[in-house]
Amino acid sequence: MKISNSSLLAHFQSATGVCTDTRKIQKGNMFFALKGPNFNANALAEEALAKGASCAVIDDPAFETGENTLLVSDGLKALQDLATAYRNTLTIPIIGLTGSNGKTTTKELIFSVLSQQFHCFATSGNLNNHIGVPLSILSILPAHEIAVIEMGANKQGDIKELVDIAQPTHSLITNIGKAHLEGFGGESGVIKGKGELFDYVSAHGGIVFLPKEKNIVHQMSEERQITEVVLANSAMPTDLLEAKPYIRFSCADKTVVQSHLPGIYNFENIQMAIAVGKHFGLSDAQCKEGIATYQPTNHRSQYIKIGSNQVLMDAYNANPSSMQAAITHFAETDNEPKILILGDMFELGDLSAAEHEALGKLIASFSFEKVLLIGEHMQHALTHLPKAFYFPDKFGLHNWLQDHPIKSSYLLVKGSRGIQLESVLPFLAND
Ligand code: ATP
Ligand code: MG
Repeated sequence: MKISNSSLLAHFQSATGVCTDTRKIQKGNMFFALKGPNFNANALAEEALAKGASCAVIDDPAFETGENTLLVSDGLKALQDLATAYRNTLTIPIIGLTGSNGKTTTKELIFSVLSQQFHCFATSGNLNNHIGVPLSILSILPAHEIAVIEMGANKQGDIKELVDIAQPTHSLITNIGKAHLEGFGGESGVIKGKGELFDYVSAHGGIVFLPKEKNIVHQMSEERQITEVVLANSAMPTDLLEAKPYIRFSCADKTVVQSHLPGIYNFENIQMAIAVGKHFGLSDAQCKEGIATYQPTNHRSQYIKIGSNQVLMDAYNANPSSMQAAITHFAETDNEPKILILGDMFELGDLSAAEHEALGKLIASFSFEKVLLIGEHMQHALTHLPKAFYFPDKFGLHNWLQDHPIKSSYLLVKGSRGIQLESVLPFLAND
């Protein structure tokens, strides 16, 4: 017999948490058996129970073993429905955020700021999709006073699905850019898809945080006649002093804050985090502390010293907007010689050739000591960069670097996740 949603909620409330990976099971966890193109975790239900799971939610009756296996029609849908039901029991503020670039960084900054005063929950890492958001919601504990949930999307309807689960009381869109153009159907598709967050606010109410500069995100809020808005930089004005290499800014009381984040683009993320902190009643000093102590991780805008080289490691992901932001920042830094190591930007569909060519043009407008391009799509950038070195894959780059060691240089390393450009680091460890 299939189990009802209310019984699932009761099981969850007496469990120690939810897990979808038998390698990470902790005693008393509720195990959800999910299916993917290459796996069916129904077959792992027994293992999960043997490892201490309190129960295993399965959607294939062939794997029912007793009262601790709970049969549902669809494991993923059951996980999402449980997260929605649990969300409905929560009364804390939930900040939902999306955008083309800077979601994780802004989420981490907001977490760092709010943690100065509250017991704050935030999405772990980049768990921002149709599985990650329900898992995040289900990780909010009764002791948490406020939560920040990152929502990612690569096509229309994704954000709607996630907001219906998370039901944010506060929302923000970091920016609209050229990311996942293939799935969204061009930039206008991105505006529509990301706008599903504001559609939710317009239908259900809630507060929206808007960037300082009037831009498309403001327009999206105005079009939906959202009235409860908080403008970044209004409650605690800040002025950028420099972003080379790290952002330093001044506050109205003349104090100066030194951050560990490079690039002007990250100043927008910082201002958003401060706006959220001020809105929830934090002092200026608490906001400053939250920003000053945040250290970027996971190859997002991270300066790394390796051998005699200094690397701006930004290989976590790439799209035309974030490439432009990172390259422009890097070009404006003072140190020489500067070398670019750039990999393909994925998920651009029909626009891929044109966007890679435009990237080549942007790079040619600056003067870099060397440009190293990696991946099939990067061939299109070569049109404007006759002197660039080109490699079809990362292994070609590694071999070349062994024969042509780079020393005492400044490098920007950036590409889409699938290119795995962080693999270049050991080849730059030259003294
Ligand atoms: P994902 O879609 O992978 O979840 P994300 O939106 O969470 O990405 P981050 O991981 O925070 O984004 O940042 C990824 C990269 O995007 C950064 O390293 C930087 O190059 C760029 N980036 C960050 N903030 C901005 C911004 N405000 N504008 C443009 N580019 C940005
Ligand atoms: Mg992210």
